[in-house]
Amino acid sequence: MSTLGNDLIRIIADFPKPGIVFKDITPLLANADEFKKVCNQFAQIADQSEYIAGIEARGFIFASAVAALTNKGFIPIRKSGKLPGKVISKMYDLEYGKSSLEIHIDLIPAGGRVLLIDDVLATGGTAIAAIDLLKMAELNPVCIAFLLEIPALGGRSRIAKAHPDVKIATILAE
Ligand code: AMP
Repeated sequence: MSTLGNDLIRIIADFPKPGIVFKDITPLLANADEFKKVCNQFAQIADQSEYIAGIEARGFIFASAVAALTNKGFIPIRKSGKLPGKVISKMYDLEYGKSSLEIHIDLIPAGGRVLLIDDVLATGGTAIAAIDLLKMAELNPVCIAFLLEIPALGGRSRIAKAHPDVKIATILAE
């Protein structure tokens, strides 16, 4: 786990709703060296996996870069209504609202080992739904990795309780 200059993750109060302390990763993305550094760190934990899955939208940024870096296939886990093929869906609660995620079920052979990536771990609801979906699609999520987590929201213990078989990793310290 590494630390960053504070200016690379901007803290935006009350976005997108009052009471939410939003972690804005766009300064990090705009810094070529730091973006490459975190992608390389994600890539270092991808060796047990055959595929890299990303959660729409900000998870795609890291997951697709890591898939290309590690020569592994990319699996998009998308918001409902975006994937054109045969899908399965999962509803879940967010820190700020409700949503649902979908995955294609006709592409990846059963049992494929997957590293799942998202940007921020908050309550863990999104991650749990995405892991549920991978398992429902008969894939094998071995690890979920985040750029950063908000420990006060308890996401890590919720994921560990729901999916004790899935390793949890965070790239940046708080
Ligand atoms: P959660 O399901 O509560 O763990 O929320 C995680 C998802 O929502 C991730 O895909 C994040 O991109 C986004 N998210 C939730 N809370 C925040 C936050 N405070 N700052 C930035 N992104 C957040």
